[in-house]
Amino acid sequence: MIDSETRHKCGVFGIWGAPDSAHQAYIALYAQQHRGQESAGIAVSDGQRLDAHVGMGLVADVFTPSILSQLKGKAAIGHNRYSTTGSNRACNAQPLLRDYIGGQVALGHNGNLINADLLRNQYEQRGHIFHTSTDTEVIIHLLAAHQTSKADSLNEALQHLQGAYSLVFLFHDRIEAVRDPWGWRPLVLGRTKQGHWCVASETVALDALGARFEREVERGEIVTLSDSGVASRRFADAQGPALCIFEHVYFANPSTHLFGDTVQIVRERLGRALAAEAPVEADYVVPMPDSGRTAALGYAMGSGIPYREGIVPNRYVGRTFIRPEQDERDAAVQLKLNVISDIVKDKRLVVVDDSIVRGTTTRGKMEQLRRSGAREIHLRISCPPIRNACYFGIDFPDPETLVANERSVDQIRDYLGVDSLHYLSLDGMLSCVSQPPGHYCTACFSGRYPIPVDQPVSKLSLEPHQLRMFT
Ligand code: SF4
Repeated sequence: MIDSETRHKCGVFGIWGAPDSAHQAYIALYAQQHRGQESAGIAVSDGQRLDAHVGMGLVADVFTPSILSQLKGKAAIGHNRYSTTGSNRACNAQPLLRDYIGGQVALGHNGNLINADLLRNQYEQRGHIFHTSTDTEVIIHLLAAHQTSKADSLNEALQHLQGAYSLVFLFHDRIEAVRDPWGWRPLVLGRTKQGHWCVASETVALDALGARFEREVERGEIVTLSDSGVASRRFADAQGPALCIFEHVYFANPSTHLFGDTVQIVRERLGRALAAEAPVEADYVVPMPDSGRTAALGYAMGSGIPYREGIVPNRYVGRTFIRPEQDERDAAVQLKLNVISDIVKDKRLVVVDDSIVRGTTTRGKMEQLRRSGAREIHLRISCPPIRNACYFGIDFPDPETLVANERSVDQIRDYLGVDSLHYLSLDGMLSCVSQPPGHYCTACFSGRYPIPVDQPVSKLSLEPHQLRMFT
């Protein structure tokens, strides 16, 4: 259970050629709401000018029918966002829309750049002014700095980025969709029934539009959507890959087809693998809603123990971890999950969840199960202990606050107050996805980072004529 300030950044979408492009973007953002709930935005192009509306809150809060109707254009990009700590400010909401030396550009970003601070520092020392605290804004500065008569300023700008990025740019005459050479974050290409090309973080957005999944945007590829249709070029050789396994464990929508697997089916397999690795005699398999539900189903199928929902969610309370303040978060957790004592009383329970971050919520729920009369609690987690920071787009809290930091599994079991605890092994987790184990990033579990994260580099070397001030 993600019970902390863990945040994902973010979901992106783009569509070219649709007369109701803003409305299409709205539907896609709605479908990808799980990827970011603190702000949302849509930028449109009518072929000449760009316009945008961004705001704090859920998609349905940010966009009223009247706002949507004012966003006219044949192309749109959209963005759902979580903020990083301390930066849940309206100015950071995306897409970022800027005037620059090349005209207008709007940009949405999913991922995290590990050399953004370095690049920003260098630009600021040269007089550039930044208006947000996001790592995304530096990309627009790079774009401007490389806007010369040379053919491909985007390609040039991308050469400077290190880290995870699935990007969607909107220019007046085209959309450019970019996936980093390692492919941490998903990005897919689709086509609507009306023949309009679109890109999205997840296939669930394509499904919501009735669009057909065409293919993934490849690692190191730029896909261009325009009046001429779709085109592709490379800006880098594919590396890795380093597909984020945590997308499968927790973040992606269950119906999404991701990195060659359907998320729901992977989660069932994770539960079955858990049952094989850590069998126990029990009366019921109980999911932690909603995050542990599918893995619990898999555990029940694998073990033959009946599945029962002994903890039920209040559907009118949002995901707990989107609340910026701790007090609000704790209150929301209490409101969100209720234990049904008639189901759990005097029973031996296998409780299944997808992950534990800080453990405070899990501990509270285990106490509640005890108070409700549970005889035994055997906790099963469908991924290994999270012990390391993520630098590629998932904001886990400070590693020191992770429950698995410098605690053994036995110590975590004691802290949580359960009779037994088992985390799915790394090999067990990787056996549930279809690509070879080396194709996934597992750094938050294993500590093995695909690229060095402590030595961000910059190749920034600008000639004076390339320096541009912009507002
Ligand atoms: S460190 Fe963990 S959360 Fe981050 S990209 Fe790698 S697997 Fe995903």
